[in-house]
Amino acid sequence: MRDINFLSENNAKPIWHPMAHPAEMRASPPRVIMQGEGAMVTDIDGRTVLDAVGGLWNVNLGYSCDPIKQAIARQLDALPYYSGFRGTSTGPSIELAYELAQWFEPEGMVRSFFTSGGSDSVETALRLARQYWKIRGQADRTKFLALKKGYHGTHFGGASVNGNANFRRNYEPLMPGVFHTPAPWTYRNPFDETDPAKLAALCARAIEEEIAFQGADTIAAFIMEPILGAGGVIVPHEGFMPLVRDICDRHEILLIADEVVTGFGRTGAWSGSRLTGVKPDFMTIAKAITSGYFPLGATLISAKVAEVFEADKTSFGAIGHGYTYSGHPVGCAAGLAALAETKRLALNENAAARGAELATALEALKTKHAAVGDVRGKGLMAALEIVADRATKRPVDKKTMARIADAAYDAGVMLRVSGNMIILSPPLIVTAKDIATIAEGLDAGL
Ligand code: PLP
Repeated sequence: MRDINFLSENNAKPIWHPMAHPAEMRASPPRVIMQGEGAMVTDIDGRTVLDAVGGLWNVNLGYSCDPIKQAIARQLDALPYYSGFRGTSTGPSIELAYELAQWFEPEGMVRSFFTSGGSDSVETALRLARQYWKIRGQADRTKFLALKKGYHGTHFGGASVNGNANFRRNYEPLMPGVFHTPAPWTYRNPFDETDPAKLAALCARAIEEEIAFQGADTIAAFIMEPILGAGGVIVPHEGFMPLVRDICDRHEILLIADEVVTGFGRTGAWSGSRLTGVKPDFMTIAKAITSGYFPLGATLISAKVAEVFEADKTSFGAIGHGYTYSGHPVGCAAGLAALAETKRLALNENAAARGAELATALEALKTKHAAVGDVRGKGLMAALEIVADRATKRPVDKKTMARIADAAYDAGVMLRVSGNMIILSPPLIVTAKDIATIAEGLDAGL
């Protein structure tokens, strides 16, 4: 690799970064991260900080997981790639699909369709949902419903079901036939309702109204994150997802649970659906499936959906969809090792225990700093909303947020800022001492 001076001089010049303005990145180049160990990362200037972002909600096992590194090296030696398209398969993909069916048996998942990441997984679920209705002879069921503030990746289908203008405006017109209903967000919602259970009921009623307006027989699926991540860690009341499941059942609408962030223990349970006992029709997973060591995702398929495809005698059952890297053997080998380590270390239990400590620390910060308007979270996903005025909830500006993140970095903690929110999603291997360090970094920043 070229030397550090070369990297510093060319930082943000030949590369455009996701979710960033190229001119802004040139004017203020991003930190260059060079190394990682455990839950810590080291930048190009040699500064080592605790990664309270966990890469991007994905490095659940931290940066030193030897079993994953060794599994990747072994698979590269044996077979670095072979196609998973019709006609061939590879050992790790068969094994990982088998494992995922065991892992998500409580959610009723029986089949895996492998992808290269979360956006692919969402796209796959949307397409298979439409295909499901074509096989069943209800070709009018093409529309999708989703929550405002939801995030479902950046492909055209995923962007269309996204519920945040930031990810939509510059790419419109998006897919027609997508409709959004209010998110059960107690801090800001159109009903001015602060009671989580009452808000869940109001949001469920809004879904019912939208279905009545559109006509249930035109709707293919409802997609939701069990806990809305990128939209600001919006944690619905535990009754909300069961209410959505019930509505979908009554109107025969498929339910897609987007578990790209909530899968594999981050919430303290192995999935967001499992937190409330809901069985979706599809689940989308990615990120922690390899702990970020290799790009991989999957769309998981329930028995109800699988039976329709597998018993199909029409011309609609063949899957005309897939990726060169569907079932990539190295990715699947990484996934098998990551899942084994995740289970061995019971990371779900650590997420629950450390998450409780984090919640206590965040409440204390809210008491101490008037700028903290709201704190919320579940397990090791959390958000703080920073406001200029608690009474009006007016968000602080971008510069203030950047200053908070910089000061926290100087105090030894990497934070992620999104609008006026600080989003926390540290590796699930963090200790009680790490949680204290995160709280100190936030305190310094605030
Ligand atoms: N769905 C959810 C809930 C996500 O949080 C993300 C990414 O953060 C995606 C989909 C898209 O995943 P990817 O960035 O791997 O394409």
